[in-house]
Amino acid sequence: MRIILIGPPGAGKGTQAARLQEALHIPAISTGDIFRANVKGETELGKLAKRYMDAGEYVPDEVTNKMVADRLGQDDAKNGFLLDGYPRTAAQVDELDKMLAAADVALDAVVELTADTDEVVGRLLARAQIQGRSDDTEDVIRHRLDVYAAETQPLTTIYADRGLLKQVDGLGEIDEVTDRLLKALQA
Ligand code: AMP
Repeated sequence: MRIILIGPPGAGKGTQAARLQEALHIPAISTGDIFRANVKGETELGKLAKRYMDAGEYVPDEVTNKMVADRLGQDDAKNGFLLDGYPRTAAQVDELDKMLAAADVALDAVVELTADTDEVVGRLLARAQIQGRSDDTEDVIRHRLDVYAAETQPLTTIYADRGLLKQVDGLGEIDEVTDRLLKALQA
């Protein structure tokens, strides 16, 4: 299966992506995780990405697209993948379409994990305490939610028009949400 998981910061995409990876035997590819690994490793890509991430802005499309193309070209992604956090802009949608067309494959589903704003802000502030992520301060969180609403939320319409969108309520116990996701993907 080739799946995109989309949803606001704090909706639980990372947690659920890890579970779907196990259940569906496909690699979960998180652009945020790849950027964070690069920041930690102090690579050139990491240095560039950090400035944007810390401000709650998106890393420029050219950089992100190239990184994803490289990752999707790896062997473990040949037979399926779950993208977590990509695409996030209309330009990234176009670019992903090109990558998939070049490989002669297609998406099976785009799952939107929904959660209301107050809930996600609360979750992100809690995560800040635990993980100490530099982009989990309240101001940056609010900005990331605004950027999501402006740049990424509209992508759900693009995929709905293609008949690919499934919406799943991200509120509730982790196991419960995983069950909902798997049921939506089986439907
Ligand atoms: P995430 O872990 O998905 O919340 O991503 C953390 C940060 O990484 C985002 O706030 C962006 O700065 C950056 N990032 C992750 N994925 C993308 C993407 N597809 N396009 C641009 N920036 C991204």
